Amino acid sequence: MQTRIEVGILGATGMVGQNFIRFLQGHPWFDLKWLGASDRSAGKKYRDAMTWHFGALPETVADLTVAECKPGNAPRLVFSALDASVATEIERAFAQAGHVVVSNSKNHRMDRDVPLLVPEINPDHLRLVPGQQRARGWKGQIVTNPNCSTVGLTMGLGPLKPFGITRVIVTTMQAISGAGYPGVASMDITGNVIPYIGGEEEKMEQETQKILGEFRGDHIEPLAARVSAHCNRVQVVDGHTETVSVEFSSKPAHAELRAAFENFASVPQERKLPSAPPHPVIYLSEANRPQPRKDVERERGMAAFVGRLRPCPVLDYKFVVLSHNTIRGAAGAAVLNAELMHSEGMLD
Ligand code: NAP
Repeated sequence: MQTRIEVGILGATGMVGQNFIRFLQGHPWFDLKWLGASDRSAGKKYRDAMTWHFGALPETVADLTVAECKPGNAPRLVFSALDASVATEIERAFAQAGHVVVSNSKNHRMDRDVPLLVPEINPDHLRLVPGQQRARGWKGQIVTNPNCSTVGLTMGLGPLKPFGITRVIVTTMQAISGAGYPGVASMDITGNVIPYIGGEEEKMEQETQKILGEFRGDHIEPLAARVSAHCNRVQVVDGHTETVSVEFSSKPAHAELRAAFENFASVPQERKLPSAPPHPVIYLSEANRPQPRKDVERERGMAAFVGRLRPCPVLDYKFVVLSHNTIRGAAGAAVLNAELMHSEGMLD
């Protein structure tokens, strides 16, 4: 029988922390036992330390006492949803003390020796971890998941990588939940589009090249494709929609690309990891899909929905991809990372 693994959350009171709590409810492997936040929240019962945003507060956490984010009493495996202003130091302190830190924060994503993982796309990048531990003298480790808009793009591009991706132009329509709570003021976003999300375009461009890059012993050689991102905030609650144009070094036929999307499966599916969707990329053939309202909650928010594959008069082909920004783009992504790590024996 599977041994259950105790887990904690760094930054448990925030929006992403709450998404972790929701996503971990009833998890077949992981038992949520520890919640950490700032000294403003530490010492309080969880129910009194935050404003819960998602219906009924799970009883399993309501009476847990929030701890300070200091290594010591936390379980070995911790998910991090820390504010970026504090994540660098706290995550390092936990890794140094022997914790496995599976982080959703941006701080360590681009570190040379830190895996930036999408389990279906680059599971082999976990091989960076032994070198990370050696170089930093850590018993623990840090593994990260990408920015919420990068996840959808890389799940859309990953199946097409064998055709030789050379250039990508992506335009996002990003949900307001991606800005946390309270996020963008209602007066600013209602009936409006905001064509700027600070730092997002650079993150999408660099993270995509790293995720689609090749493991080279002690680092990842980024994909040598040029990536240009336009990022926009739109009045959608959950789900980032992205329109993508892509150029290939080979000149694949439409049917080959379509088959690549439809037949795509990877390590998480082979190993039947608990949070892995049976089909990580779902191609929708209707002319007007995917749409956030109709599609984003399907497959527990863990699949990427692709549609409208057609020739592009500027690059080679274009398509639409939709993914759930707070599930596949945050909590669900990190939990799937930890499941992959467990299946590799990295949590033993
Ligand atoms: P948030 O709601 O502001 O929550 C931040 C969390 O960090 C809270 O639990 C807060 O605890 C804790 N914290 C702040 N200062 C601390 C300190 N000095 N020591 C210990 N804990 C401290 O932020 P969020 O929207 O959940 O985002 C969390 C992280 O995920 C960020 O790095 C963000 O960039 C990333 N992210 C967010 C989204 C999203 O959809 N929102 C998506 C992807 C990635 P207190 O309540 O005690 O202050």
